[in-house]
Amino acid sequence: MLLRHTTAKEIDRKALTINPAKTCQPVGAMYAALGLHGCLPHSHGSQGCCSYHRSALTRHFKEPVMASTSSFSEGSSVFGGSANLVSAIETIFSVYDPEVIAVHTTCLSETIGDDLTQIVSKANEDGKVPAGKKVIFCNTPSYVGTHVTGYANQVSSFVKFFSTATPKKRNVVNLVAGWMEPSDMREIKRIAKEMEARTIMFPDMSDVLDTPLTGHYDMYPKGGTTQADMIATGDSKFTIGIGPYTTEDACIKLENKCKVKFETIEIPIGLKATDKFIMSLSRHANVPVPDSLTAERGRLVDMIADNNKNFYDKRVALFGDPDTLIPLVEFLLTLDMKPVYIVTGTPGKHFDEAMTELLKEKVPEAKFKSGERADMFQMHQWIKQEGVDMLIGNSYGKYIARDENIPFVRLGFPVTDRPGNNFFPYVGYTGATNLLIKIMDAFLEHKDRTCPEEKVELVM
Ligand code: SF4
Repeated sequence: MLLRHTTAKEIDRKALTINPAKTCQPVGAMYAALGLHGCLPHSHGSQGCCSYHRSALTRHFKEPVMASTSSFSEGSSVFGGSANLVSAIETIFSVYDPEVIAVHTTCLSETIGDDLTQIVSKANEDGKVPAGKKVIFCNTPSYVGTHVTGYANQVSSFVKFFSTATPKKRNVVNLVAGWMEPSDMREIKRIAKEMEARTIMFPDMSDVLDTPLTGHYDMYPKGGTTQADMIATGDSKFTIGIGPYTTEDACIKLENKCKVKFETIEIPIGLKATDKFIMSLSRHANVPVPDSLTAERGRLVDMIADNNKNFYDKRVALFGDPDTLIPLVEFLLTLDMKPVYIVTGTPGKHFDEAMTELLKEKVPEAKFKSGERADMFQMHQWIKQEGVDMLIGNSYGKYIARDENIPFVRLGFPVTDRPGNNFFPYVGYTGATNLLIKIMDAFLEHKDRTCPEEKVELVM
């Protein structure tokens, strides 16, 4: 009983978060920066922050994550880190030779009040940035927002520093990728290709954080959105933001800067969200939906119909990021399951509104919460009050699942105790099939292990 002190009785907490369902802003900024080709993320703060952010990503992706740091000392903590950053920029370009350095701040540099606009201008004026190279930056104070906010801020910085409008518009749709796995980004590009839609995806971590083992180390893998493509996003005819929390700000900035109209949709997890993505892409890229995708959809619907008895009326608790949870709850409802407890550490009213709308008819008794006080401790208390049949979330949920003896599906960030989470997509019809199998396997394994002997079935 690892969490034996969790009680069913709730006490009103105003200034205490226990087991938060989030991590800090720069983790998201660092992840998004890796989706730009040839980019080295740079953490403007002390070494400990950078080490933590890198290891958080490495533990999840099982890949080396390169990033540099301004390496604040006592002096820079008092007088500011301007000199450290200028010197870091010079050293990084001469030693590691990236195409772009993407600087993000930390709690410390934000508290000091370092002005990145002024520092990076000075580095440019002093000739520390070689011709053809670029330093971009964003502010990621971790005492507000979460890793989701940091991701969004970094993606917006791509638009701020690269997107450029020329008089020549192109028949291309921008796909702004929210926080997904590299395999999900690969799957979305496959769907777009299948539809013969011309697209630019940014950021794009496929072929960056899921590279094959070749025996040769590439500091800058072949994947990632190129600078040329990023600049060209200003000439595209439309933008689809995939995941409102992580992409809406970038979409707004792109519209304001380059007059590219946009819509944001949920990440295509599950049947309905995938339908919406495909219809949106079909409409805005002016391409038909091919029979091959209709067949993929049909196979998913067939699998849902075949296995409905395994899902029907099952109570589920979930935690994670809002852009994942919203379409996931919708998918669970499609499967006739009952998402009863849902928490996200990321604040924002879109989550609350979407949950109200999705759950009001089918699961009116559901409890959900977002923001700083929405933690896993509270979700565990709800589970203690009335149990669930399944828990879905990142690896931190394993303690609750073990204590309560409930099937556990690992999904979200980070998944540190199982491999392969970033290998198979969860988006699109194929991804929904993967997810459905994962959910069903967890139920059936648990049932086979715990049911009375006379109930063990060889055929499901
Ligand atoms: S000090 Fe701030 S930026 Fe650094 S690891 Fe902690 S929360 Fe993140």
